[in-house]
Amino acid sequence: MEHTALSVALAQLNLAAQKLELNAGIHKMLSQPKRSIMVSIDIRLDNGDIDVFNGVRVQHWDVRGPFKGGIRYYPGITIDEVKALSMLMTWKCAIADIPYGGAKGGVCIDSKKLTKQELERVTRRYVSLIVDYLGPHRDIPAPDMYTDAQTMAWVMDTYSQLKGYSVPECVTGKPVEVGGSEGRTEATGRGVIHCVKQAAQNIDLKLKGASVAVQGFGNVGYHAAQAAAEIGCKVVAVSDSTGGIYRADGLNPTQVLSHKEKTGSVQGFKDCRNITNQELIETQCEVLIPAAMENQITCSNADKIKARMVAEAANGPTTPEADQALHERGICLIPDILANCGGVTASYFEWVQNLTREHWPLQKVNRKLEEKMTKAFEDVHALSQKEESDLRTGALMLGVGRVANAIKVLGIWP
Ligand code: NAD
Repeated sequence: MEHTALSVALAQLNLAAQKLELNAGIHKMLSQPKRSIMVSIDIRLDNGDIDVFNGVRVQHWDVRGPFKGGIRYYPGITIDEVKALSMLMTWKCAIADIPYGGAKGGVCIDSKKLTKQELERVTRRYVSLIVDYLGPHRDIPAPDMYTDAQTMAWVMDTYSQLKGYSVPECVTGKPVEVGGSEGRTEATGRGVIHCVKQAAQNIDLKLKGASVAVQGFGNVGYHAAQAAAEIGCKVVAVSDSTGGIYRADGLNPTQVLSHKEKTGSVQGFKDCRNITNQELIETQCEVLIPAAMENQITCSNADKIKARMVAEAANGPTTPEADQALHERGICLIPDILANCGGVTASYFEWVQNLTREHWPLQKVNRKLEEKMTKAFEDVHALSQKEESDLRTGALMLGVGRVANAIKVLGIWP
């Protein structure tokens, strides 16, 4: 069956609404973003020509606090995809219990084909076009696919120049030199492993020596592998877009990273067997961590998964049919909106540090991250137990329920 990101997000909202017996009007409100801003980004290329790119910022709901969400640069991006991602951000922030609503931004652009100077002009022009809707108490962007800390520094500078004073709290995921937080880069991957630790207790899985396979060896995948190794797991397989590697007695993620930095691929790492990404998903392991992209676990491979636990580090790696198949097979799945909420949680810490003009040490950030992730997992787990549901249904009910309650309390104006 053909799924789009929006059709899946709406089906998930419908499920939560039905289980929560949500008021039909509130369900209707939450099905639509509050605001979608579409802009044309005109820039001068390095060769002097003018080019125009489409950009969008979708602000889903902000009843629990200002909008929050990443900006992605991606040639095939559609407004429906950005709407879906903004909706997931709303639930994710509510599950993490941080005072934000959900948003997402996107520019239809192949960042690999532009120079750094051209990307800077795109970023600054895009921010200038939506600046009236941004701000530390309105909407706070962050990095996402193909944007990074440098992009966020340009966002901060453009916003600050237009306001006339420095506003570090207008964006998160910045370099540490301009107010970024310690530990933000590692936070999503580390947060995934905090969830794995909680879930392991519930299925009686001993993590010391447990085998872990990670698909995607980028920011999230590498840090998840590293955090898993730190607590004594055996990382037996990792992969990137070029393919994967397997070693039964475990890999050292830091050494694999330096090999990837040198050669451009994880493949060819010493004493390993090269495997395909498909084989990685089907690897013999206790914990499978998809940390690359959407639609990787589908009805064609769900019955071949050997892991006891799947932790969705990526957004949307499992199709709805595969989700059902894993549930029927008794495989514990930690859903994306819970598993990867460590990233936005650390972004929240960055925003708090900026607002209070403080800079916390790494240990404090990591301690607070663990507390938040543990509480989020416990809340989702408790609701799933009460509802006799899987963790995804519990997470959706928790996120959607908290947002719906905020709407009820605030009322509808006028
Ligand atoms: P990234 O670009 O740093 O890394 C992505 C990795 O996936 C790369 O190693 C790439 O080679 C690999 N990859 C791409 N296509 C692949 C394929 N077909 N098979 C296997 N590997 C493939 O991105 P990231 O920031 O690590 O994000 C990964 C996922 O996590 C995305 O779904 C993203 O939305 C989600 N996420 C990221 C954050 C964050 O803080 N970075 C937070 C929440 C969710």
